Amino acid sequence: MSAYLAGTFSKKDIDWGKKMTENKEGIIFDIQRWSIHDGPGIRSNVFFKGCPLRCKWCSNPESQEVYQELAFFRGKCIGCGRCITNCPYQAITPSEEGNIIDYTICQRQCYQGKGGYACTSQCYAKALKVIGEKVPLPDIMKEVLSDSKLYEQSGGGITVTGGEPFTQPDFLLELLRFSKEKGLHTTVETCAFTSWKYFEPALDYIDFLFVDFKLYDEEKHIAYTGTSNKIIKENLCRINEYAKNHKLTLVIRTPVITGINDSEEEIRLIAAWIKEHLSEVHIYQLLPYHRLGRGKYHDIGKSYELEETEPPAADVIGALEQIIRSHGLDIKYD
Ligand code: SF4
Ligand code: SF4
Repeated sequence: MSAYLAGTFSKKDIDWGKKMTENKEGIIFDIQRWSIHDGPGIRSNVFFKGCPLRCKWCSNPESQEVYQELAFFRGKCIGCGRCITNCPYQAITPSEEGNIIDYTICQRQCYQGKGGYACTSQCYAKALKVIGEKVPLPDIMKEVLSDSKLYEQSGGGITVTGGEPFTQPDFLLELLRFSKEKGLHTTVETCAFTSWKYFEPALDYIDFLFVDFKLYDEEKHIAYTGTSNKIIKENLCRINEYAKNHKLTLVIRTPVITGINDSEEEIRLIAAWIKEHLSEVHIYQLLPYHRLGRGKYHDIGKSYELEETEPPAADVIGALEQIIRSHGLDIKYD
């Protein structure tokens, strides 16, 4: 397995992401309209590409790298062979089970801004797709603002998510600033693993902030996400200080993964930490693990480690939510 497939994320990647967004272009992989789960009211979700974490349960693996990637939707392939002819690097080999893509060649030749992706140019069946696109700020805003009436009626707005929005900090700031100029309610979903120097200026343009708190123990956090949670806890405390004097709704969320962080002890530790350190947080939500992202790993040439993991049962989530309530925290923001 190559270094990229193993999921490394370097300073170089962040620098590259910043460089690409200097001219007010963001690398995004989707804009989802009419969402009702990612903040108050009806919202448009803008998905940023790039994330410094490598959570083993990630349901958006196509969001992890900040650069464009190739996805192959095997089920759509009609076997015309055009991609094999068009790829200048012999990365695609036919086989009885369908085309086999050597993604290490794609990484070397077409990823990280080197472009190309000639394989996709004549795939009329749309079995090959480049994930991620550099999109100018005005283009994003045009699409987001097309639902302005819905936001007004429902109390909704724009939600910036990913990936990790702070992987492209300059562009994020521009997007948020511009959204506020247009009078939009702004929500950001973040893992908070970023430098405070990026967080601080953005907070003035955020109305509603979801921060993930995935695991209490640092060693466990490193084992399952690839990063320490120290900076996350530090940032949460700083955001809490900010929220004391500003109108910011801060919601903590934990994705609950069977066998990893679904114990009562785990949720009790996190809830107690919130109560001790985050006076401005009143809502702590659980996000039960689901398996919807599994197929995407295959599509982009990555392996999925949680093949056997089942979603947590409803009564497990119910018991954990009871613990949250017993700490004086709500589980809903509506
Ligand atoms: S061009 Fe598209 S449809 Fe044709 S073989 Fe390649 S992936 Fe399949
Ligand atoms: S992404 Fe580039 S290297 Fe990979 S199959 Fe397509 S053209 Fe070939």
